[in-house]
Amino acid sequence: MIPYFSLQKITESFEPQLSEAINDITASGWYLQGKANANFEKEFADYCGTTHCVGTGNGMDAITLILLAWQAMGKTQRGDEVIVPANTCIATIIGILRAGMQPVLCEPEAYSCNINPHKIVTLITTNTKVILPVHLYGHSADMDPILAIAMQHGLLVLEDCAQAHGAFYKGKRVGSLGHAAAFSFYPSKNLGALGDGGAVTTSDVDTATYVRALGNYGSSAKYVHDFKGINSRLDELQAAILSVKLKRLDADNERRREVARRYRKGMHNPLVRLLPVSEPMENVYHIFPIFCSDRERLQAYLMEKGIQTLIHYPIAPHKQQALSEYAALSLPITEQIHREELSLPMSPLLTDEEIEHIIESINHFV
Ligand SMILES: *Cc1c(COP(=O)(O)O)cnc(C)c1O
Repeated sequence: MIPYFSLQKITESFEPQLSEAINDITASGWYLQGKANANFEKEFADYCGTTHCVGTGNGMDAITLILLAWQAMGKTQRGDEVIVPANTCIATIIGILRAGMQPVLCEPEAYSCNINPHKIVTLITTNTKVILPVHLYGHSADMDPILAIAMQHGLLVLEDCAQAHGAFYKGKRVGSLGHAAAFSFYPSKNLGALGDGGAVTTSDVDTATYVRALGNYGSSAKYVHDFKGINSRLDELQAAILSVKLKRLDADNERRREVARRYRKGMHNPLVRLLPVSEPMENVYHIFPIFCSDRERLQAYLMEKGIQTLIHYPIAPHKQQALSEYAALSLPITEQIHREELSLPMSPLLTDEEIEHIIESINHFV
Protein backbone atom coordinates (compact mmCIF):
# COMPACT_ATOMS: atom_id res chain seq x y z
CA MET A 1 0.00 0.00 0.00
CA ILE A 2 1.39 3.41 -0.97
CA PRO A 3 -0.12 5.97 1.43
CA TYR A 4 -1.00 9.43 0.14
CA PHE A 5 1.47 10.93 2.60
CA SER A 6 3.07 9.20 5.58
CA LEU A 7 3.56 11.78 8.29
CA GLN A 8 4.94 9.13 10.60
CA LYS A 9 7.78 8.37 8.17
CA ILE A 10 8.45 12.08 7.67
CA THR A 11 8.65 12.70 11.42
CA GLU A 12 10.96 9.69 11.94
CA SER A 13 13.28 11.00 9.24
CA PHE A 14 14.04 14.08 11.38
CA GLU A 15 15.24 12.08 14.38
CA PRO A 16 17.16 12.42 16.63
CA GLN A 17 17.20 16.23 16.09
CA LEU A 18 13.46 16.54 16.58
CA SER A 19 13.41 14.79 19.96
CA GLU A 20 16.45 16.76 21.10
CA ALA A 21 14.74 20.04 20.24
CA ILE A 22 11.56 18.96 22.04
CA ASN A 23 13.51 17.87 25.12
CA ASP A 24 15.36 21.19 25.24
CA ILE A 25 12.09 23.13 25.32
CA THR A 26 10.54 20.77 27.85
CA ALA A 27 13.53 21.25 30.15
CA SER A 28 13.67 25.01 29.65
CA GLY A 29 10.47 25.79 31.58
CA TRP A 30 9.49 28.44 28.98
CA TYR A 31 6.70 27.48 26.56
CA LEU A 32 5.35 30.61 24.87
CA GLN A 33 6.91 33.67 23.29
CA GLY A 34 10.48 32.75 24.08
CA LYS A 35 13.79 32.10 22.36
CA ALA A 36 12.53 29.34 20.07
CA ASN A 37 9.93 31.71 18.58
CA ALA A 38 12.45 34.52 18.20
CA ASN A 39 14.90 32.13 16.48
CA PHE A 40 12.37 30.61 14.14
CA GLU A 41 10.84 33.98 13.23
CA LYS A 42 14.29 35.30 12.31
CA GLU A 43 15.17 32.17 10.30
CA PHE A 44 11.87 32.08 8.46
CA ALA A 45 11.92 35.80 7.61
CA ASP A 46 15.45 35.36 6.24
CA TYR A 47 14.35 32.29 4.31
CA CYS A 48 11.40 34.11 2.72
CA GLY A 49 13.33 37.30 2.09
CA THR A 50 11.27 39.56 4.36
CA THR A 51 12.36 41.72 7.28
CA HIS A 52 9.68 40.35 9.64
CA CYS A 53 7.98 37.11 10.60
CA VAL A 54 5.41 36.73 13.38
CA GLY A 55 4.37 33.28 14.60
CA THR A 56 0.62 32.60 14.89
CA GLY A 57 -1.53 29.76 16.14
CA ASN A 58 -2.38 28.51 12.63
CA GLY A 59 -2.66 29.60 9.00
CA MET A 60 -6.27 30.73 9.11
CA ASP A 61 -5.51 33.04 12.05
CA ALA A 62 -2.54 34.44 10.10
CA ILE A 63 -4.96 35.58 7.37
CA THR A 64 -7.41 37.05 9.88
CA LEU A 65 -4.66 38.81 11.84
CA ILE A 66 -3.22 40.53 8.75
CA LEU A 67 -6.67 41.86 7.83
CA LEU A 68 -7.35 42.97 11.43
CA ALA A 69 -3.95 44.67 11.50
CA TRP A 70 -4.74 46.61 8.33
CA GLN A 71 -8.07 47.64 9.90
CA ALA A 72 -6.32 48.82 13.07
CA MET A 73 -3.87 50.75 10.87
CA GLY A 74 -6.78 52.47 9.10
CA LYS A 75 -6.00 50.90 5.71
CA THR A 76 -9.26 48.94 5.46
CA GLN A 77 -12.53 48.68 7.33
CA ARG A 78 -14.94 45.97 8.35
CA GLY A 79 -17.25 45.25 5.42
CA ASP A 80 -14.62 46.02 2.76
CA GLU A 81 -14.18 43.50 -0.04
CA VAL A 82 -11.36 41.01 -0.46
CA ILE A 83 -10.94 39.33 -3.87
CA VAL A 84 -9.97 35.68 -3.37
CA PRO A 85 -9.83 32.63 -5.66
CA ALA A 86 -13.08 30.65 -5.56
CA ASN A 87 -11.21 27.32 -5.59
CA THR A 88 -9.12 27.81 -2.45
CA CYS A 89 -9.16 25.83 0.79
CA ILE A 90 -12.24 27.09 2.67
CA ALA A 91 -9.99 28.30 5.54
CA THR A 92 -8.86 31.21 3.34
CA ILE A 93 -12.45 32.40 2.98
CA ILE A 94 -13.42 31.85 6.61
CA GLY A 95 -10.25 33.74 7.61
CA ILE A 96 -11.56 36.77 5.71
CA LEU A 97 -15.07 36.51 7.18
CA ARG A 98 -13.69 36.34 10.72
CA ALA A 99 -12.02 39.69 10.13
CA GLY A 100 -15.49 41.09 9.31
CA MET A 101 -14.66 41.53 5.63
CA GLN A 102 -16.45 40.41 2.48
CA PRO A 103 -14.85 37.65 0.36
CA VAL A 104 -15.46 38.17 -3.38
CA LEU A 105 -14.92 34.86 -5.17
CA CYS A 106 -12.86 35.00 -8.35
CA GLU A 107 -12.50 32.26 -10.95
CA PRO A 108 -9.04 30.71 -11.46
CA GLU A 109 -7.24 30.21 -14.75
CA ALA A 110 -8.19 26.73 -15.98
CA TYR A 111 -4.61 25.87 -16.92
CA SER A 112 -2.89 26.87 -13.65
CA CYS A 113 -5.78 26.67 -11.13
CA ASN A 114 -4.50 29.97 -9.67
CA ILE A 115 -6.47 33.23 -9.56
CA ASN A 116 -7.06 34.80 -12.97
CA PRO A 117 -5.78 38.42 -13.09
CA HIS A 118 -8.19 39.29 -15.94
CA LYS A 119 -11.13 38.21 -13.80
CA ILE A 120 -9.84 40.19 -10.80
CA VAL A 121 -10.20 43.43 -12.76
CA THR A 122 -13.88 42.74 -13.47
CA LEU A 123 -14.62 42.29 -9.74
CA ILE A 124 -13.08 45.52 -8.42
CA THR A 125 -15.60 47.94 -6.84
CA THR A 126 -15.21 51.05 -4.70
CA ASN A 127 -15.30 48.72 -1.65
CA THR A 128 -12.41 46.51 -2.81
CA LYS A 129 -9.38 46.90 -0.54
CA VAL A 130 -7.42 43.66 -0.75
CA ILE A 131 -6.45 41.02 -3.35
CA LEU A 132 -5.71 37.67 -1.72
CA PRO A 133 -3.98 35.30 -4.18
CA VAL A 134 -3.42 31.71 -3.04
CA HIS A 135 -0.36 29.85 -4.32
CA LEU A 136 -2.36 26.68 -4.79
CA TYR A 137 -0.78 23.20 -4.87
CA GLY A 138 2.70 24.74 -4.32
CA HIS A 139 2.72 26.86 -7.46
CA SER A 140 2.95 30.65 -7.29
CA ALA A 141 0.08 32.70 -8.66
CA ASP A 142 1.06 35.00 -11.53
CA MET A 143 2.06 37.90 -9.26
CA ASP A 144 3.28 40.57 -11.71
CA PRO A 145 -0.15 41.33 -13.19
CA ILE A 146 -1.76 41.04 -9.74
CA LEU A 147 0.70 43.52 -8.23
CA ALA A 148 0.21 45.86 -11.19
CA ILE A 149 -3.59 45.80 -10.73
CA ALA A 150 -3.16 46.40 -6.99
CA MET A 151 -0.85 49.34 -7.62
CA GLN A 152 -3.20 50.86 -10.18
CA HIS A 153 -6.24 50.61 -7.88
CA GLY A 154 -4.49 51.27 -4.55
CA LEU A 155 -5.17 47.80 -3.17
CA LEU A 156 -3.26 45.69 -0.66
CA VAL A 157 -2.00 42.21 -1.58
CA LEU A 158 -2.13 39.38 0.96
CA GLU A 159 -0.51 36.11 -0.21
CA ASP A 160 -1.87 32.82 1.11
CA CYS A 161 1.31 30.71 1.15
CA ALA A 162 -0.12 27.77 3.11
CA GLN A 163 0.67 25.36 0.25
CA ALA A 164 3.84 26.95 -1.09
CA HIS A 165 6.63 27.22 1.53
CA GLY A 166 9.82 27.89 -0.43
CA ALA A 167 8.26 28.36 -3.87
CA PHE A 168 9.71 31.05 -6.11
CA TYR A 169 8.18 33.53 -8.50
CA LYS A 170 10.75 35.02 -10.89
CA GLY A 171 13.61 34.53 -8.43
CA LYS A 172 11.79 35.76 -5.30
CA ARG A 173 10.26 33.56 -2.64
CA VAL A 174 6.53 33.59 -2.15
CA GLY A 175 5.75 35.36 1.11
CA SER A 176 7.87 38.32 0.03
CA LEU A 177 5.86 39.38 -3.04
CA GLY A 178 2.80 41.16 -1.59
CA HIS A 179 2.29 43.50 1.39
CA ALA A 180 2.03 40.56 3.79
CA ALA A 181 1.69 36.79 3.62
CA ALA A 182 0.07 34.04 5.65
CA PHE A 183 1.69 30.61 6.17
CA SER A 184 0.25 27.48 7.75
CA PHE A 185 2.39 24.83 9.44
CA TYR A 186 -0.43 22.28 9.58
CA PRO A 187 1.41 18.94 9.94
CA SER A 188 1.11 17.82 6.30
CA LYS A 189 2.21 21.11 4.70
CA ASN A 190 5.66 21.25 3.06
CA LEU A 191 6.91 22.77 6.32
CA GLY A 192 4.74 21.19 8.99
CA ALA A 193 4.64 21.32 12.78
CA LEU A 194 3.60 18.45 15.06
CA GLY A 195 0.32 20.21 15.69
CA ASP A 196 -1.05 23.60 14.67
CA GLY A 197 1.10 26.56 13.73
CA GLY A 198 1.24 29.49 11.35
CA ALA A 199 3.11 32.69 10.57
CA VAL A 200 2.82 36.09 8.96
CA THR A 201 5.72 37.37 6.86
CA THR A 202 6.02 40.99 5.77
CA SER A 203 8.60 43.68 5.20
CA ASP A 204 6.26 46.33 6.62
CA VAL A 205 7.22 46.98 10.22
CA ASP A 206 3.79 48.39 11.14
CA THR A 207 1.94 45.36 9.82
CA ALA A 208 4.28 43.09 11.79
CA THR A 209 3.86 45.13 14.98
CA TYR A 210 0.06 45.19 14.75
CA VAL A 211 -0.15 41.47 13.89
CA ARG A 212 2.01 40.63 16.91
CA ALA A 213 -0.09 42.74 19.25
CA LEU A 214 -3.43 41.54 17.85
CA GLY A 215 -2.41 37.88 18.22
CA ASN A 216 -1.56 38.47 21.86
CA TYR A 217 -4.88 39.89 23.21
CA GLY A 218 -4.07 43.23 21.57
CA SER A 219 -1.12 43.78 23.85
CA SER A 220 1.73 46.02 22.74
CA ALA A 221 3.63 45.65 26.04
CA LYS A 222 3.01 43.26 28.92
CA TYR A 223 -0.38 44.06 30.51
CA VAL A 224 -0.92 47.07 28.20
CA HIS A 225 -3.80 46.49 25.77
CA ASP A 226 -4.42 48.80 22.83
CA PHE A 227 -6.90 46.57 20.95
CA LYS A 228 -9.40 43.81 21.57
CA GLY A 229 -7.11 41.22 20.02
CA ILE A 230 -7.32 37.47 19.89
CA ASN A 231 -5.04 34.77 21.27
CA SER A 232 -3.11 33.19 18.41
CA ARG A 233 0.55 32.43 19.14
CA LEU A 234 3.02 29.85 17.91
CA ASP A 235 4.15 27.82 20.91
CA GLU A 236 7.80 27.20 21.73
CA LEU A 237 7.66 23.45 21.04
CA GLN A 238 6.32 24.00 17.53
CA ALA A 239 8.79 26.82 16.84
CA ALA A 240 11.73 24.59 17.85
CA ILE A 241 10.38 21.72 15.72
CA LEU A 242 9.96 24.04 12.74
CA SER A 243 13.55 25.30 13.07
CA VAL A 244 14.76 21.70 12.77
CA LYS A 245 12.54 21.00 9.76
CA LEU A 246 13.26 24.32 7.99
CA LYS A 247 16.90 23.26 7.51
CA ARG A 248 15.78 20.50 5.15
CA LEU A 249 12.93 22.34 3.39
CA ASP A 250 14.83 23.20 0.22
CA ALA A 251 16.17 19.65 -0.13
CA ASP A 252 12.69 18.21 0.49
CA ASN A 253 11.16 20.56 -2.07
CA GLU A 254 13.83 19.55 -4.58
CA ARG A 255 12.92 15.89 -4.06
CA ARG A 256 9.23 16.77 -4.57
CA ARG A 257 10.20 18.43 -7.88
CA GLU A 258 12.10 15.28 -8.85
CA VAL A 259 9.02 13.16 -8.11
CA ALA A 260 6.95 15.56 -10.23
CA ARG A 261 9.47 15.39 -13.10
CA ARG A 262 9.22 11.60 -13.10
CA TYR A 263 5.43 11.69 -12.98
CA ARG A 264 5.35 14.08 -15.92
CA LYS A 265 7.90 12.17 -17.96
CA GLY A 266 6.32 8.78 -17.40
CA MET A 267 2.60 9.48 -17.41
CA HIS A 268 0.86 9.22 -20.77
CA ASN A 269 -2.84 8.57 -20.59
CA PRO A 270 -5.28 10.54 -22.75
CA LEU A 271 -7.90 10.27 -19.96
CA VAL A 272 -5.64 12.11 -17.51
CA ARG A 273 -4.70 15.77 -17.74
CA LEU A 274 -1.75 17.39 -15.90
CA LEU A 275 -1.05 21.05 -15.17
CA PRO A 276 1.59 22.54 -17.49
CA VAL A 277 5.18 22.85 -16.25
CA SER A 278 5.69 26.09 -14.40
CA GLU A 279 9.26 27.40 -14.38
CA PRO A 280 9.99 30.39 -13.58
CA MET A 281 7.41 29.99 -10.82
CA GLU A 282 9.37 27.15 -9.26
CA ASN A 283 6.69 24.89 -7.94
CA VAL A 284 7.20 23.12 -4.60
CA TYR A 285 4.49 20.53 -5.36
CA HIS A 286 2.61 20.53 -2.09
CA ILE A 287 0.07 18.61 -4.14
CA PHE A 288 0.48 16.82 -7.47
CA PRO A 289 -2.97 17.20 -9.01
CA ILE A 290 -4.21 15.26 -12.01
CA PHE A 291 -7.57 15.83 -13.69
CA CYS A 292 -9.91 13.18 -15.01
CA SER A 293 -13.57 13.42 -16.02
CA ASP A 294 -14.01 9.89 -14.62
CA ARG A 295 -12.31 10.71 -11.32
CA GLU A 296 -14.26 8.47 -8.94
CA ARG A 297 -13.56 5.40 -11.10
CA LEU A 298 -9.87 6.36 -11.41
CA GLN A 299 -9.60 6.79 -7.65
CA ALA A 300 -11.21 3.38 -6.99
CA TYR A 301 -8.95 1.76 -9.63
CA LEU A 302 -5.81 3.25 -8.03
CA MET A 303 -6.98 2.08 -4.60
CA GLU A 304 -7.21 -1.48 -6.02
CA LYS A 305 -3.60 -1.08 -7.18
CA GLY A 306 -2.62 -0.12 -3.62
CA ILE A 307 -2.31 3.61 -4.28
CA GLN A 308 -4.04 6.01 -1.91
CA THR A 309 -5.12 9.35 -3.39
CA LEU A 310 -6.98 12.37 -2.01
CA ILE A 311 -9.22 15.03 -3.56
CA HIS A 312 -8.40 18.72 -3.01
CA TYR A 313 -11.22 19.46 -2.64
CA PRO A 314 -14.41 17.48 -3.23
CA ILE A 315 -16.81 20.41 -2.63
CA ALA A 316 -16.20 23.98 -3.83
CA PRO A 317 -16.43 26.60 -1.06
CA HIS A 318 -19.50 28.25 -2.65
CA LYS A 319 -21.26 24.86 -2.61
CA GLN A 320 -20.63 24.32 1.10
CA GLN A 321 -23.45 24.65 3.63
CA ALA A 322 -21.22 27.07 5.58
CA LEU A 323 -21.19 29.52 2.65
CA SER A 324 -24.76 29.06 1.45
CA GLU A 325 -25.00 32.80 0.71
CA TYR A 326 -22.70 32.11 -2.28
CA ALA A 327 -24.60 29.06 -3.56
CA ALA A 328 -26.21 30.83 -6.51
CA LEU A 329 -22.88 31.95 -8.02
CA SER A 330 -21.93 30.40 -11.33
CA LEU A 331 -18.24 29.50 -11.25
CA PRO A 332 -17.83 26.87 -13.98
CA ILE A 333 -14.02 26.59 -13.90
CA THR A 334 -14.00 26.24 -10.12
CA GLU A 335 -16.74 23.64 -10.29
CA GLN A 336 -14.91 21.64 -12.97
CA ILE A 337 -11.72 21.60 -10.86
CA HIS A 338 -13.69 20.26 -7.89
CA ARG A 339 -15.29 17.59 -10.11
CA GLU A 340 -12.09 16.36 -11.76
CA GLU A 341 -9.13 16.93 -9.42
CA LEU A 342 -7.31 13.94 -7.90
CA SER A 343 -4.10 14.27 -5.85
CA LEU A 344 -1.43 11.59 -6.37
CA PRO A 345 0.88 10.54 -3.53
CA MET A 346 3.50 13.28 -3.11
CA SER A 347 6.25 13.22 -0.51
CA PRO A 348 10.02 13.71 -0.41
CA LEU A 349 10.18 10.11 0.87
CA LEU A 350 8.43 8.42 -2.09
CA THR A 351 10.74 5.72 -3.46
CA ASP A 352 11.59 5.25 -7.14
CA GLU A 353 9.73 1.91 -7.13
CA GLU A 354 6.62 3.55 -5.70
CA ILE A 355 6.77 6.31 -8.32
CA GLU A 356 7.15 3.71 -11.10
CA HIS A 357 4.19 1.71 -9.81
CA ILE A 358 2.01 4.84 -9.71
CA ILE A 359 3.02 5.83 -13.28
CA GLU A 360 2.44 2.30 -14.63
CA SER A 361 -0.94 2.10 -12.96
CA ILE A 362 -2.11 5.45 -14.36
CA ASN A 363 -0.89 4.48 -17.83
CA HIS A 364 -2.94 1.26 -17.72
CA PHE A 365 -6.17 2.97 -16.70
CA VAL A 366 -8.75 2.66 -19.49
C1 LIG B 1 -4.00 24.66 5.07
C2 LIG B 1 -4.49 25.89 4.44
C3 LIG B 1 -4.98 26.97 5.20
C4 LIG B 1 -5.28 26.88 6.66
O1 LIG B 1 -4.21 26.61 7.47
P1 LIG B 1 -4.46 26.12 8.99
O2 LIG B 1 -3.10 26.17 9.60
O3 LIG B 1 -5.04 24.76 8.94
O4 LIG B 1 -5.40 27.10 9.61
C5 LIG B 1 -5.29 28.14 4.54
N1 LIG B 1 -5.16 28.25 3.21
C6 LIG B 1 -4.72 27.23 2.44
C7 LIG B 1 -4.59 27.43 0.97
C8 LIG B 1 -4.40 26.01 3.02
O5 LIG B 1 -3.98 24.99 2.25
